[in-house]
Amino acid sequence: MSAWTPDSWTTKPIKQDVTFPDPEAFNAVVSSPPLVCPEEVLNLREQLRKVALGEAFLLQGGDCAELFDYCAAGPIEDKLKVLLQMSLVLIWGAGIPVVRIARMAGQYAKPRSSPYESVNGQQIMSFRGDNVNGFDPSERIPDPQRLLSAYFHSAATLNYVRALLSGGFADLHDPMAWNLDHVRHDHVRGEYQSIVNQLLQSLDFMRTIGVDRGESQPALNTADIFMSHEGLILEYEQALTRQQQARGAPQADWFNLGTHFLWIGDRTRQLDGAHIEYFRGIKNPIGIKCGPSLDPAELVRLLAIVDSDREPGKVTLITRYGAGKIENHLPAHIEAVRAAGHCVVWACDPMHGNTESTPTGVKTRHVDNIMAEIKQAIAIHSRLGSRLNGIHLELTGERVTECVGGSMELSATDLAQNYRTFCDPRLNYHQSLDIAFLIAQHYKE
Ligand code: PEP
Ligand code: MN
Repeated sequence: MSAWTPDSWTTKPIKQDVTFPDPEAFNAVVSSPPLVCPEEVLNLREQLRKVALGEAFLLQGGDCAELFDYCAAGPIEDKLKVLLQMSLVLIWGAGIPVVRIARMAGQYAKPRSSPYESVNGQQIMSFRGDNVNGFDPSERIPDPQRLLSAYFHSAATLNYVRALLSGGFADLHDPMAWNLDHVRHDHVRGEYQSIVNQLLQSLDFMRTIGVDRGESQPALNTADIFMSHEGLILEYEQALTRQQQARGAPQADWFNLGTHFLWIGDRTRQLDGAHIEYFRGIKNPIGIKCGPSLDPAELVRLLAIVDSDREPGKVTLITRYGAGKIENHLPAHIEAVRAAGHCVVWACDPMHGNTESTPTGVKTRHVDNIMAEIKQAIAIHSRLGSRLNGIHLELTGERVTECVGGSMELSATDLAQNYRTFCDPRLNYHQSLDIAFLIAQHYKE
């Protein structure tokens, strides 16, 4: 294999590429300061090592396509709140710590199934995410200034997350308004309420005995939340790739310091392609989306490239087959990875294989199918002596109506009320909590 450099990907064939008219305008990112530091990235590596070994559970979630407009107090607070509340429920259910990673502060770029679309009879470039072009048909030409803008929006988002956490936003003693009024059925609301009561009682108990103040105990009033995005636009990723020596590390390493965790999408994971070439050189923990088209032997060859040292938790395999297909694909992927000796984080993305359209053509997903894929993932892993280590969801803390079902029983005709996504349909605040409650109950049984 030839030597890796931050730009060695440019010698390889690339999928989902974007040609910017004036790439020079983008060079400013190269001299901008990093958004995260190597010690944080290594901390996440250590936490994901524990996840891979079954000592912690991974919750990764956020928008399909983050927009620059979401860089505002309300949406950021709402997303943090839903991730924190979900993680409390999961801790209660699974009985192990939860590692939280947001799809946030950089989740702007989108791969598309077709590079062009027809709008009012005209062929225009598809919307590729706020860091490439605008959703409005008049703004579809790629603009390199948007890459620079992505950097500043990521920085502002991350800065506010850090401020909120250090200001006590994640204080677990605050019941954080667990409002369950939306739950239609009394017995379901009763079950949820009982989980919340048990949670709050446990927190009270820990406060009473002083566990939360003991210096040797992990602090209960702050929560680590790491950031992630799909590493798609490699010009941007390269610009934030820096060689640094983490404190206490024996040597300098190459890190992507634009985020903590990056994943490779299902459309860009070609063995000899540019994305795998870029990903093989960075020290960050990485994800690979695994869909039905991924041959088990190819998965093993991918892992040989990006996890040649077989380090537990270096790679998170984010499986996304669909509730009707998981049984046909997951078992072979698990067996192949085990036989090759890699210790990965197995995360279930129950969103991308379960996208459907309503009779009127609205893109949606059913909470029942999302939950069915998660339940099957848990069952298949345990049947094969493996373990589901985490979930990867598209969600928002806002009250959108994009997915159907859940305890609020949204129907296809309700979707028009507040359908706001420009890309894939997200779970809203209530539906996200539903998923956490259902997983928690499943683990408790
Ligand atoms: C996504 O996570 O939004 C996405 C595009 O997923 P995938 O690569 O699995 O299709
Ligand atoms: Mn998506």
